[in-house]
Amino acid sequence: MEPWVPSSLLDRAAEGRVDDAWVAGMWEHPGSRVFGVDERSTVTSTDGELRWQRPSGPYVPELHLLVGLVEGRAWFVAEAGVLGGPWETASLRDLTPVLDETMADVVVTGVALVNWHRVAPHCGQCGALTEVREGGHVRWCAHCERPRFPRTDPAVIVAVLDDADRLLLAHQRVWESNRVSILAGFVEAGESLEQAVHREIAEESSLTLTSLTYVGSQPWPFPRSLMLGFVARAVGTAIHVDGVEIEWGRFYTRAELEDAVASGEVTLPTSSSIASRIITAWRAGELT
Ligand SMILES: [Zn+2]
Repeated sequence: MEPWVPSSLLDRAAEGRVDDAWVAGMWEHPGSRVFGVDERSTVTSTDGELRWQRPSGPYVPELHLLVGLVEGRAWFVAEAGVLGGPWETASLRDLTPVLDETMADVVVTGVALVNWHRVAPHCGQCGALTEVREGGHVRWCAHCERPRFPRTDPAVIVAVLDDADRLLLAHQRVWESNRVSILAGFVEAGESLEQAVHREIAEESSLTLTSLTYVGSQPWPFPRSLMLGFVARAVGTAIHVDGVEIEWGRFYTRAELEDAVASGEVTLPTSSSIASRIITAWRAGELT
């Protein structure tokens, strides 16, 4: 499976962003751009494309977050309301397929930054109000005298194959009626990724796994997940779903899935997700 945005030209400017004056200078540069993210994690858009504007007014570290540089041009992100508006917005699901890899990286990073600052103004240790540093990539607690970094919640997502190379797809109770995907779940405190995979698959399908292999990851800032993708072989094919979170699940051959998709019996995840990328790789015979 292809890595997430392997050709991205986004430079997170780790050296430059430690200098507030440099960041302020980039904000004032006429070539710089800023886009907005609203409280639903949707992004300012026009006719289905990313809507950006030139920064205006003085640089305010708490409001104007530096995503990074693309071929020398600075991209900032802000709460959509900070940029005026109201603006039309689009979801990452709709936007990332029409963006190139660099801009998909910029927009997903921007959503992750805004989502983090929205919930992290206070130090998680002492509760003091923290101060934005490094263009928004760090918050500083003056009381603890320590930096606070963006939080990421790891989640595992697993393509479970049986001995005949059939793929396990399951339907979650909360989804629209015919949607299916591969199984996924959050890593719990103190768990390794491998433990999380075995536990989640056992909980959701009662299957035991062998030959667990990492296939790739993808940021999923809703609000702050990192999806870690695996493929594994099931021991046997007897599935017992929990009936609470997972309503039903079954193994599909490639031909069975083609027919089920063509007839509308099932719908698959949207193309912007790692679930879609993993399923697509399996359908193409690239997952073994
Ligand atoms: Zn503190």
